[in-house]
Amino acid sequence: MISIEQALEQIMARLPECRSTWCALDNALGHVLAEDVQSDIDSPPYDKSLVDGYAVIADDITLDITLSVLEDVLAGQIPTQTIQPGTAIQIMTGAPLPEGASAVVMIEQTSRNQQDVTIHQETIKSETNIMRQATSLSKGETVLSAGKFIRPIEVGILAEIGCTKVPVYQQPKLAIISTGDELVEATKTPQAGQIRNSNGPLLQALATSHGADAHSLGIGVDNFEALSDLVATGLESDILILSGGVSAGVKDLVPAVLRQHGVEQVFHKLNLKPGKPLWFGIFSSGKHQTMVFGLPGNPVSSLVCFLLFVAPVISKLTGKTSACLRETTASLKTDFQQRGDRPTYFPAQLTEHGGNRYVTPLAWKGSADQQTLSKANALAFFQAGNQLYQTGEEITVFEIPS
Ligand code: AMP
Ligand code: MG
Repeated sequence: MISIEQALEQIMARLPECRSTWCALDNALGHVLAEDVQSDIDSPPYDKSLVDGYAVIADDITLDITLSVLEDVLAGQIPTQTIQPGTAIQIMTGAPLPEGASAVVMIEQTSRNQQDVTIHQETIKSETNIMRQATSLSKGETVLSAGKFIRPIEVGILAEIGCTKVPVYQQPKLAIISTGDELVEATKTPQAGQIRNSNGPLLQALATSHGADAHSLGIGVDNFEALSDLVATGLESDILILSGGVSAGVKDLVPAVLRQHGVEQVFHKLNLKPGKPLWFGIFSSGKHQTMVFGLPGNPVSSLVCFLLFVAPVISKLTGKTSACLRETTASLKTDFQQRGDRPTYFPAQLTEHGGNRYVTPLAWKGSADQQTLSKANALAFFQAGNQLYQTGEEITVFEIPS
């Protein structure tokens, strides 16, 4: 059986090229820029006032001097007068600075009497409360570089520089099929022997949150023809994830159905707990390629396999450079008995206290216990081999992205 590292290597070796596209600014959040973007304006586009107040000649100002107000300029208006000694122009925050002005006195430091304003401060330094044209950025300047992850802050900057068609890496199309005769959709009340399909929504949420354009193809019953029809549709996507049906059960038909569709098996089974039955293969048709993952149906196995093997694929294809699972170390809060010959990723709770990190492997009540799983924010890592890890021992932990 191959190792986790070998599995990841074999998957990443089959990764297609990243594709770039354009998206509307409204949809840019969470994408990665595929090209540098330049500004089509100076920012600010003109010398502007940073406060509501009076534009003045700084050298004019002495305590309680009275200046003659030439005009009032609101944001969005253009001054028409030039300030001369002994005059001022009332100006609002963001309005263009009038010719001749070298500072703006805050309105709170003044009193107005019809066309006169009295300044109640002793002096003002030149440039006070003024932001000069292009202080923030200049027309033609590269404002954001290729590879930048677009957060809400970047959406604001892109809007400012008029970049409304944003060059980004394309989101891979990802299809999900949840297999199992026992499954019913979450909207249904399970009858005897049935459970709700939780992996479908879990995997769709995971894929979406990692940047894929994910959609569910619903439940595939454990029947060769029915599964085959769904797989045919799923193979139109860039990534196809199946959950369940890859173990050794008599109804575990996924590998055979994939083979029948000409999906080339790259590996089946690896040395990992949970997630040993993971199946990975490639479907090629002309220029189109689909990366196919058969994840074990146990929800924890599905989660671990997704985070270890599918998430890095989506990240790479969407141009991200940071690791999906952030590695750290933490001190065990309880003893942990590791058993068996497989390296283990165990759902755990990571906490921080007084600058120290602590990790508690979750004591869940069987593989279907999602209630306990909801407390997990990390995967605790234990090496293969029987070993009692003792309270206080430092172990490797991977943070689950929220
Ligand atoms: P399998 O990998 O198909 O043998 O399934 C392993 C376990 O996971 C079984 O207990 C299944 O009932 C459960 N399971 C499979 N698919 C799902 C799913 N979509 N949602 C929740 N549990 C599932
Ligand atoms: Mg099954």
